[in-house]
Amino acid sequence: MTQYGFYFDSARCTGCRTCEMACKDYKDLPQTIAFRRVYDYEGGTWTDAGDGTYTSDTYAYHVSLGCNHCAMPQCMANCPSGAIEKDADTGLVHIIDEKCTGAGMCVETCPYNVPVLNEETKLGMKCDGCADRVAAGLSPICVEACPLRALEFGDIEELRAAHADTVDGIAPMPTGDETTPSIAINACPAAKEPGDTTGAIANEKEVTLVAAGA
Ligand code: SF4
Ligand code: SF4
Repeated sequence: MTQYGFYFDSARCTGCRTCEMACKDYKDLPQTIAFRRVYDYEGGTWTDAGDGTYTSDTYAYHVSLGCNHCAMPQCMANCPSGAIEKDADTGLVHIIDEKCTGAGMCVETCPYNVPVLNEETKLGMKCDGCADRVAAGLSPICVEACPLRALEFGDIEELRAAHADTVDGIAPMPTGDETTPSIAINACPAAKEPGDTTGAIANEKEVTLVAAGA
């Protein structure tokens, strides 16, 4: 099986949200639901040297996150109705609407807060890696839309081989230990490791509300 996944270059990403909007448009999502979300992670402080000068260790960067189509998807393992499947050929993880009972366990157990529950249909929803486009030989719409070419998609092992020194998580993402995510990230110089406590998500309301579909 080829395991498809995303490469994300945090040194290139400007946080413009074109990926997020292109996905919302292509998937015709309700106003308050986004499958790909862009986290603004910021931290640091200014220090008064006492001589009229200040030093700064402030930083800010962005993390564009869709589904990581994990090798060990917690969403799939915890779905009580077997409504989540990992494709045998591509490794892409998708929800089968006909089997979904809206239990919401995928929403609760994905460590990346990827799945959302559509309050109108009561069905779980998430990024499926644009499986229809991939089957047609195209890239996911977010990858094609990114003006900075900060996203790539393909065989995750080939992406890791093509880009040296990638990691599978930067703050505010958790470590990849739980699910083995199919993501390769080029960490920008400011990027902090998963579990970092020096910074915070600056747009928490935005990413939480769109995740919850509120
Ligand atoms: S990122 Fe979350 S929703 Fe996507 S496969 Fe992994 S556990 Fe499932
Ligand atoms: S479109 Fe590209 S540059 Fe803009 S937020 Fe998404 S990944 Fe970052």
